[in-house]
Amino acid sequence: MGLLSQGSPLSWEETKRHADHVRRHGILQFLHIYHAVKDRHKDVLKWGDEVEYMLVSFDHENKKVQLVLSGEEVLETLQEKGERTNPNHPTLWRPEYGSYMIEGTPGQPYGGTMSEFNTVEDNMRKRREEATSVLKKNQALCTITSFPRLGCPGFTLPEFKPNPVEGGASKSLFFPDEAINKHPRFSTLTRNIRHRRGEKVVINVPIFKDKNTPSPFIETFPGDDEAAKASKPDHIYMDAMGFGMGNCCLQVTFQACSIAEARYLYDQLATICPIVMALSAASPFYRGYVSDIDCRWGVISASVDDRTREERGLEPLKNNNYRISKSRYDSIDSYLSECGEKYNDIDLTIDKEIYKQLLQEVSPGCPLSAGIDHLLAQHVAHLFIRDPLTLFAEKIHLDDANESDHFENIQSTNWQTMRFKPPPPNSDIGWRVEFRPMEVQLTDFENSAYVVFVVLLTRVILSYKLDFLIPLSKVDENMKVAQKRDAVLQGMFYFRKDICKGGNAMVDGRGKAQPSTEPAAEEYALMSIDTIINGKEGVFPGLIPILNSYLENMEVDVDTRCSILNYLKLIKKRASGELMTVARWMREFIANHPDYKHDSVITDQMNYSLISKCNQIANELCECPELLGPAFRKVKYSGSKTGSSN
Ligand code: GLU
Ligand code: MG
Repeated sequence: MGLLSQGSPLSWEETKRHADHVRRHGILQFLHIYHAVKDRHKDVLKWGDEVEYMLVSFDHENKKVQLVLSGEEVLETLQEKGERTNPNHPTLWRPEYGSYMIEGTPGQPYGGTMSEFNTVEDNMRKRREEATSVLKKNQALCTITSFPRLGCPGFTLPEFKPNPVEGGASKSLFFPDEAINKHPRFSTLTRNIRHRRGEKVVINVPIFKDKNTPSPFIETFPGDDEAAKASKPDHIYMDAMGFGMGNCCLQVTFQACSIAEARYLYDQLATICPIVMALSAASPFYRGYVSDIDCRWGVISASVDDRTREERGLEPLKNNNYRISKSRYDSIDSYLSECGEKYNDIDLTIDKEIYKQLLQEVSPGCPLSAGIDHLLAQHVAHLFIRDPLTLFAEKIHLDDANESDHFENIQSTNWQTMRFKPPPPNSDIGWRVEFRPMEVQLTDFENSAYVVFVVLLTRVILSYKLDFLIPLSKVDENMKVAQKRDAVLQGMFYFRKDICKGGNAMVDGRGKAQPSTEPAAEEYALMSIDTIINGKEGVFPGLIPILNSYLENMEVDVDTRCSILNYLKLIKKRASGELMTVARWMREFIANHPDYKHDSVITDQMNYSLISKCNQIANELCECPELLGPAFRKVKYSGSKTGSSN
């Protein structure tokens, strides 16, 4: 989840003292990169996925499953056996926030040909096998977004008691610091978020009221005034970064051919984020309770909310601080391409000095006096309202022309739905965008389906010059709806009606639009996910039908076509309700569990049954037609057999 520097982390007080230094040099580093590569074009399409995993251990005798705190050792073994011995190794492994987590990506990015879509699932399967092979007996690698009993007594192996009083990182009543990855970045982030905020983070998730759930549902935390004040009735209360960043997701990064294309894709995909998030919903349970939300997003957002009371608008502003309307982990606040400009209707807090510096005319002899356009300047000046959260003593003074750590420091702790990524200094990597809202699915098949769906969507957006833009405030409203229970079937989302009339999006290097009129209210309408994905006569053509017509015009080998069609079928059926989302399936599993008392409580035994079942599904030891469709795999295998015998 970001830049990993080595060294001695500074305390919050020390980090704060260097905040202006980090920002000043971060901007210089950005300018060096920008000027070196702003005119680069003809980079080829490359893309890659990131899957985050949890390590679990089953105690079959006592019917209990725990998160294993061995991520660091497992990672070390995987890197040693993989990338360190073989530069062409097919997988790469990275640490993640939880000591029970690891992150896997393909060894090399995928390229632009259609047949690459047929290698994603194999690569994901390879990752699962590779990591599973280094685990101990009764342990497994799971792709679940949120562990249902995260933060419940004894949820880790080995077990640790949370330590809320002594000078720990989280000071959580529930989440022990031992469950945080041992790399100092992660505990320092945790501690400094808490120090900057001035109190522990507060997460309140509405509880799902079942027929025997106490009403009102009120938890007591004897002797803890902070929790008593922070926790809300009818909500599940959580108090640590681990409840958010300890969740897993599925991300995709694209390399665009130029900065203009990257800015265009960033904007277009931003509107798709809430839709795909609702379609991928997979996290209904928190701290041993059934919640009333299906997605992790708001939980992570609150779990890293480092804003002070003043910044959150709870106290009058002192000094020259800002009010800041969102957490560092949240949806994007401004479009980046010029055709997005008229839809930028969210109040944008920016660092005015940085904005002015970025806009300055280029003056001869001073190449770093920028000349950056308004939209990119305000984007960067908005990211840079944040303080650095971690700083290493050895990494304060850097070579701004050849390093980018200070820029990355701020950039990589702005965890937004989309990330616009300038190339690293002196590399042959191009301008990239990252798509970040998706929840991770149980199987490699589903994860491949979501990834391929999003990548194909970028292909049609670029080929047909589609335009999905609507006012950004409407995208934010969609984000709220998308997280609710069953949003995929119940939610109504603002979506652009005529997506084909864009066409003006890529006119010049900055994606200059035709002279614009004010957006008319009729440009968008409220639609269901089914309408957006599958289309509705006279209302909207549907994304899947558009992808299908694109595919008809492409040269694709039989086997790849078969895989892609299976992937799109999954997305289509999830959108129509013919198949369940992971969240819905998990809810039904618990609701039908013989031990469940309809009181919203998930016991250790129920958690054990659920995670065992998830593990069987992921390893293809049982079918799950309500989630994946009827014997989907047989269709694919018979397809590929015919393909090879021809
Ligand atoms: N695990 C985080 C999530 O679920 C993302 C961390 C990262 O940026 O890699 O969104
Ligand atoms: Mg990650």
